[in-house]
Amino acid sequence: MLKAIKVRIYPTSEQASLLNRQFGSVRFVYNAGLRIMSHRYRRHGESLNAKHDIKKLLPVAKKSRQYGWLKEADSMALQQACINLDKAFQRFFDPKQKAGYPRFKSKRGRQSSYHCVNVRHGDNWIKVPKLKAIKARIHRPMDGKLKSITLSRTVTGKHYAALLFETEQEAPAPLKAVDTAGVVGLDMGLSHLAIDSNGHKTANPRFLKQAQKNLKRKQQALSRKQKGSARRAKARLLVAKAHERVVNARKDFQHKLSRQIVDDNQAVIVETLKVRNMMKNTRLARHIGDASWHALMAKLAYKTEEKGKHLVKLDPWFASSKTCHACQHKMDSMTLSVRSWACPACHTRHDRDINAALNIKHQGILQLKTEGLSVSAH
Ligand SMILES: [Zn+2]
Repeated sequence: MLKAIKVRIYPTSEQASLLNRQFGSVRFVYNAGLRIMSHRYRRHGESLNAKHDIKKLLPVAKKSRQYGWLKEADSMALQQACINLDKAFQRFFDPKQKAGYPRFKSKRGRQSSYHCVNVRHGDNWIKVPKLKAIKARIHRPMDGKLKSITLSRTVTGKHYAALLFETEQEAPAPLKAVDTAGVVGLDMGLSHLAIDSNGHKTANPRFLKQAQKNLKRKQQALSRKQKGSARRAKARLLVAKAHERVVNARKDFQHKLSRQIVDDNQAVIVETLKVRNMMKNTRLARHIGDASWHALMAKLAYKTEEKGKHLVKLDPWFASSKTCHACQHKMDSMTLSVRSWACPACHTRHDRDINAALNIKHQGILQLKTEGLSVSAH
């Protein structure tokens, strides 16, 4: 089983500038590869493959006078830049992911660099090729074989190392039987991050909302500053810091929420994102909502797997909101403003969101059964 931990690292100023060069080389390879691929396609209609065609250019570039400085970087990190570029193109070509065309990496954004050969760690240090050991704060015990270290620097200038370990421990076998009481359906609502089929609604916590408000204020302040001015640069850093706080607050909250959901249940049913007619929300708000739902599902996915529990992702076409969970009567249409309704066929009153979560649960149980699980009701 693979296990990852992310730790803060504290490079000396000399190491920080060496790291900066390492990040710069990785970024250069990514951007140069993207430029070459875009050019080839535009001029010659030829599709190159980053993993093969661009990677092959690395040794050539290293021997050249112009790009000889690439030799100073860890070669595995440069090869990984080609792999990452390839992944960006795969996302672009996958109709399900709706990703845009790959973009150039900015030296102002988050930087990262992947190392997988000659990586080591101690109690309070990590080591990657071409750099002396970097001081690290390792907050929990690590066991297993260290497979890779990904170094990164945030926009606000903090350094981190993500360590990936392979442990002897095997993932538990998935449960073969579950109880209906142990199955939970989850839906994403307009006003809540998650609504479950037991009737619990989880809103984004107040500290996250405050952090988001603060971020918005800082963004507005930034937009008023003159381009290229020192004040704008300062405002940009404040936005980055506020953004970092939002991201960390959300991550922290989602880890706790997903841990609790997985601990309390044997199977979790979620709906993958549907194309929603979110008239009330701005595009930005919708984007944030979608992104945080995605992040929550990812956390649920690995936490259920770790415990041998199940995560079922339903297809988005499933009409969870418009179907009565009691008698399966399907309404023709229902606008977003309808928060509660009565079924014309069986007269049950529904809270819109909880009804949807119950339908998600029932649909998930059907799917678990077709996968060969025994689902019993007590
Ligand atoms: Zn009904």
